[in-house]
Amino acid sequence: MKTMNPDPQKVKRVRTRFAPSPTGFLHIGSVRTCLFNFLYAKKMGGDFILRIEDTDRERSKPEFEEDIKKGLRWLGILYDEGPDTDGKFGPYRQMDRLDIYEKYANQLLEQGDAYYCFCTEEDLEAKKQEMVARGHAPIYDGTCSGISLEDAKKRIANGEKAVIRFKTQNKVIGFTDLIWGKVDFDVSLFGDFVIAKDTRSPLYNFAAAVDDYLMQITHIIRGEEHLSNTPRQMMIQSALGFFHPEYAHLPLILGPDKTKLSKRHNAEPVEYYKQKGYLPQALSNFIAFLGWNPGTEREIFSMPDLINEFSFERCRKSGSIFNIAKLDWYNGMYIRQTPLDKLTELLIPYYQENNLLKKISDREFEIIATGKLIDFATLSLIVSLYQERLVKLEDIIDATDLFFTDLPVYEKELLLFKDMTYQQVSASIDKCIELLSNAESFQKDYLQTYFLTAIESMNLTNRGYMLWPLRVALTGKKASAGPFEIAEILGKDLSLKRLNFAKKILE
Ligand code: GLU
Repeated sequence: MKTMNPDPQKVKRVRTRFAPSPTGFLHIGSVRTCLFNFLYAKKMGGDFILRIEDTDRERSKPEFEEDIKKGLRWLGILYDEGPDTDGKFGPYRQMDRLDIYEKYANQLLEQGDAYYCFCTEEDLEAKKQEMVARGHAPIYDGTCSGISLEDAKKRIANGEKAVIRFKTQNKVIGFTDLIWGKVDFDVSLFGDFVIAKDTRSPLYNFAAAVDDYLMQITHIIRGEEHLSNTPRQMMIQSALGFFHPEYAHLPLILGPDKTKLSKRHNAEPVEYYKQKGYLPQALSNFIAFLGWNPGTEREIFSMPDLINEFSFERCRKSGSIFNIAKLDWYNGMYIRQTPLDKLTELLIPYYQENNLLKKISDREFEIIATGKLIDFATLSLIVSLYQERLVKLEDIIDATDLFFTDLPVYEKELLLFKDMTYQQVSASIDKCIELLSNAESFQKDYLQTYFLTAIESMNLTNRGYMLWPLRVALTGKKASAGPFEIAEILGKDLSLKRLNFAKKILE
């Protein structure tokens, strides 16, 4: 093996990379890796790179790459270099770098650090069985390591199939992980591993080792599941005379049942959270805490705060539990912090998707069920009634659909308050109709004083006897904002129509 270059990354600008394989939608585990790379690069004033590892030709799909890029944009995790940006270290898609891998594969073959292996799947399986039977770890036995490069090339020219194996030495490789501390691997236990199917078909460890060097990546931050790939990549780097970057392996993210969170398990794609109405700030803040914490009680961190505060010293190596209730808590916090106008803008698409509203202009909308117009200010007023209680943006539909229909749908039992009979409910509603018909204003404070004064003079033991049937008749819901706030928005005609409808239900 060649001797290593001096370690220039110590004096170099920090460069990190997120290197997803576009074989599935962007999911929470990948976002966590990506976020930590981004936070560290930005904290150090360095560069963050997106590299698409698409060498799995069958499983890689352009739509997954698009989904990854779209998800990162939405989360505000912006890369300095990537497949769709300029950058002097490109191309940033591995399938566009095959000439580069070919050159280095040939170098390894010529140096004798790699060799062609002609063993068939069946040979390998038989050898594996035999080794296991003899109580050995099933590693490659080196059968083809003695074949000269010249002979191997002749056999390949004659149509024989071969893969390229890296020649592993019998030694221990150690490195100091920024999260795990000193880690040692006895690499003889790996055997000679396959690094490419041919010189233009590299596998992950080889392509990543080459790209990390050529893209001048200084810090490799990735999931714990890659820990044992690190010594493999370090061996390849050493053989090619590359320096070793620093490594930080992030702890597993566990599902609520403490088993590993994975694409196939509890982790939903980012798009799912977006559609449900989780805010990107909430998701980033929540994800940052999956493996990192500030060491204080503080929980709310904007992206600039996270950049400021991030450090590997505050990353832990034990698994982090993905707790959706915590994400909900963050989301509610961020929804409450969102200015009302902005929140209304974020919610309008939900009304549109649920066929409740049609956009006429930026400030005016049509309520599809009634054909009536509603302006942005009224929409904001509706939103303001629920801003405190919303957990996810999509919850606005169930909470406020009553404003976008003509008559609500509900069972008449809902109108009953405590021990009331239907007759008493009917009488209460008659009284409400009378009061609302004579109301001089529909402004909520006026309505409240006006109703409460009237109720007082009725000597009821509980004002719920009036207010519950009123609220249910207006909303058709078990829970909602108060009746006067709702009546103000519905207006006189629709409020009276709904009270008369309640009378009909009671008949
Ligand atoms: N393409 C690899 C993955 O998606 C990258 C791992 C790494 O960061 O080195 O798991």
